[in-house]
Amino acid sequence: MRYISTRGTAPVLTFGEAMMTGLARDGGLYVPESVPVLTAQEISAMAGLSYEEIAFRVMKPFLGGFFADDEFKGLIAAAYAGFGHAARAPLVQLGPNHFLLELFHGPTLAFKDFAMQLIGQMMQAALAKTGERITIVGATSGDTGSAAIEAFRGLANVDVFIMYPHGRVSDVQRRQMTTPVEANVHALAVDGDFDDCQARVKDMFNDFDFRDGVRLAGVNSINWARVLAQVVYYFSSAVSLGAPDRTVSFTVPTGNFGDIFAGYIARKMGLPIDQLIVATNQNDILHRAISTGVHDLNGVKPSISPSMDIQVSSNFERALFDAYGRDGAAITALMAELKSGGFTISQGALQMLRETFASGRCSETETSATIAQVLATTAEVLCPHSAVGVKVAMEHLGPVPMITLATAHPAKFPDAVQAACGVRANLPPRMADLFTRNERVTRMPNDLKSIQSLIRERIAR
Ligand SMILES: *Cc1c(COP(=O)(O)O)cnc(C)c1O
Repeated sequence: MRYISTRGTAPVLTFGEAMMTGLARDGGLYVPESVPVLTAQEISAMAGLSYEEIAFRVMKPFLGGFFADDEFKGLIAAAYAGFGHAARAPLVQLGPNHFLLELFHGPTLAFKDFAMQLIGQMMQAALAKTGERITIVGATSGDTGSAAIEAFRGLANVDVFIMYPHGRVSDVQRRQMTTPVEANVHALAVDGDFDDCQARVKDMFNDFDFRDGVRLAGVNSINWARVLAQVVYYFSSAVSLGAPDRTVSFTVPTGNFGDIFAGYIARKMGLPIDQLIVATNQNDILHRAISTGVHDLNGVKPSISPSMDIQVSSNFERALFDAYGRDGAAITALMAELKSGGFTISQGALQMLRETFASGRCSETETSATIAQVLATTAEVLCPHSAVGVKVAMEHLGPVPMITLATAHPAKFPDAVQAACGVRANLPPRMADLFTRNERVTRMPNDLKSIQSLIRERIAR
């Protein structure tokens, strides 16, 4: 199993190399050269198995033997041991033919824990073999950062620097990043928005002296290993509703396009998925791109679902790569156009994207109304991101069972949830002291050089 870049000129890598590399050296993202297909029998055989066992069967074909089977099973077991639910990703029913996949039972209460906990285990195991030390730099709209810090805090061979947009994350999200006491954890509050943070991460990866000097590694969803870990719950949930004999559809609250792209991979692996629906909040560039073919930037409007307040969805490049017939030069040209404001998707590529993805948008008032409506009809309290998904899913319900991904716990966004439905969602008891812990954070200008010098200083200690 080999990994190639979406821009066509970076070195071809193994799974382990792609995991440690993050962004490709030509600025592209790594994707598997071909996607392994599971047979209907192999998928049927997953019925009734534990989440961990399904995880092993789904991910193993992508590893190219990088971990031995027993070692990989051990890493998976360790990754999910800290989850607060025995099923890891339980399904609950919202209404006729509509199901909610609860992905918020991990240590930081968002779906990011599924990938981050596993990548933490895998990177640690890989580094232990070589004795290397790495510097992880990540950008976050709130949940990736807390999940990364939780996964890497206290690890021996890793420093983790997380940049978040100052003032634009919820108090729970911020405190999850600023209260860990371990010296290898560095929370940076950047004066800018999420796209600025993500752009600075890409700048650091494109500065090869810096990149090699600090041994930079990335854990944003540009990292293939993260996408891979997310493929698993598409299988576990579909199989519990009767796949492969029964087809299912998924609606995914989308920001950086990582989670929905994992669904696309699941479908390519042979999971019978009918509709794969991108749900956006008022920052609807992806909905507009898929419905009109015009992918143009027009500024991020802060919303009550902040983890989806994104314009430049990194992983959309992976989908475009396939839509353009895996033509790296075409993707390089599109991404250059994007730097100057946007691009128009070619007719052929747009047709492929439309056959693959449906899309919908949910306004702020619709998000709040959906939280209230779902509470009234099911007693389930949704977070605003999950509500965006549920609203768009309800517009696409039909004969095929619909699974909407619930991406975060409502207690991560208590103010928005309370304003919408009057209920104050409580943190689980294991996190109850979050608001009494001390915070530690460095405020930073949105400036590459300043951020780079801070990182160099901190890791030299
Ligand atoms: C990250 C995140 C999303 C968006 O997921 P992508 O993979 O970036 O599309 C949605 N909801 C929540 C709660 C998140 O943390």
